[in-house]
Amino acid sequence: MRFHIMTLFPEIFHSYMNESIMKRAVEKNIIEVCVYNIRDFSNNKHKKVDDYPFGGGAGMVMTPQPIYDTYKHIVDKYNINNPRVIYLTPKGKVHNQTIATDMSKEDDVILLCGHYEGVDQRIIDLIVTDEISIGDYVLTGGELPALILIDSISRLIPGVLSQNESFEEESFKDNLLEYPHYTRPREFMELEVPDVLLSGNHKNIDKWRHDESVRITKERRPDLYKKACK
Ligand code: SAM
Repeated sequence: MRFHIMTLFPEIFHSYMNESIMKRAVEKNIIEVCVYNIRDFSNNKHKKVDDYPFGGGAGMVMTPQPIYDTYKHIVDKYNINNPRVIYLTPKGKVHNQTIATDMSKEDDVILLCGHYEGVDQRIIDLIVTDEISIGDYVLTGGELPALILIDSISRLIPGVLSQNESFEEESFKDNLLEYPHYTRPREFMELEVPDVLLSGNHKNIDKWRHDESVRITKERRPDLYKKACK
């Protein structure tokens, strides 16, 4: 799967993609991350990429030409038909595991990172297929949201996680949050590991974990629990 990122701040992506599981996924050629600096595509002699909003008001708006030309460059270079183009925006649908799973089946995904007040609406009308938010708060730019999407999507692609890192039992599977984990030592600051986890009885362990998942989901996310009961 290839992620194409349209951004004004390409450097942000290099560090994150060069660590841990993401780095391994790139090295194994399971994912490819191509970063494009929108400024490189500006026709303006000063490489300007933003301008004042029509109608007045605070802030600057990203102009459509450099974004459109970046997009054209990507689709022409990789010969992509009807690409999925995601604009990261607080106005979008809130990201979740279902969206990540759906997107993990694509070959190419183009991510558009906004900055300032965001992008000219005509870019959204012309090329964007999905508007995604990562939560009900406003960040300065779409770069962190894009990384969140890439991470959450990539780890669902077969081969990215190893067997013992499997996502099969993680939170949101069957709309339940995950049970608590314990590791060595058996006792820490007078707190002990639940006996059942040391019992070696896998049937009892599975039951305890399921019960804990249900308890935590019911307590913290009644909305999810409702779905789990369906
Ligand atoms: N004026 C916009 C509004 O009120 O909806 C906010 C613009 S924000 C300062 C700049 C950029 O950050 C946005 O264009 C978007 O790409 C990104 N951004 C900020 N918050 C986000 C969120 N919660 N989810 C996804 N992207 C976000």
